[in-house]
Amino acid sequence: MQITRLKLLGFKSFVEPTELLIEPGLTGVVGPNGCGKSNLLEALRWVMGETSYKSMRGSAMDDVIFSGTDSRPSRDTAEVTVYLDNSARRAPAAFNDNDTVEITRKIVRESGSTYKVNGREARARDVQLLFADAATGARSQALVQQGRIGEIVSAKPQQRRRILEDAAGIAGLHGRRHEAELR
Ligand code: ATP
Ligand code: MG
Repeated sequence: MQITRLKLLGFKSFVEPTELLIEPGLTGVVGPNGCGKSNLLEALRWVMGETSYKSMRGSAMDDVIFSGTDSRPSRDTAEVTVYLDNSARRAPAAFNDNDTVEITRKIVRESGSTYKVNGREARARDVQLLFADAATGARSQALVQQGRIGEIVSAKPQQRRRILEDAAGIAGLHGRRHEAELR
């Protein structure tokens, strides 16, 4: 399913409502350092159900909310909506009602995130699975973060193994094994 539109409101540096049309074919985002290019990609990963605030370059998930500047106060909410072309009706049955699938994630300071699909409340898990099935999930190997290539090249063997395990999707197993050993 093609992503056709991304809408941001109060997400990181995008305090003003921002809408991006993504046409078929190659899309490039250009701009000076610090203008928000990586923030856009993070918004996309976030609405797909990213759970790691570290991978969003924050120290808590609330850090994705606009934190204010000298001339503007901070916000208490952030919202990202992504639109998928569903004209081929490939969406999971529960979300297959329209030619477009519309997924929104909203975070309220100190209250966590909520999701909506086609205007109806959904669980994070539903959204993560929707994208996992489309092989475009927040952790998909198709999304390569800035600095990641250099990191792999210069990593020590142990670190490199962790990166490869991450890519293979087995990183979570270590957490579970660790938990099991503690019991
Ligand atoms: P580069 O070319 O260096 O990679 P970039 O275009 O990818 O730059 P980003 O990293 O997306 O830039 O944007 C960084 C900017 O976003 C910084 O100015 C930072 O202050 C701002 N920013 C990040 N989080 C927030 C937030 N929660 N509230 C306000 N601004 C934020
Ligand atoms: Mg960047």
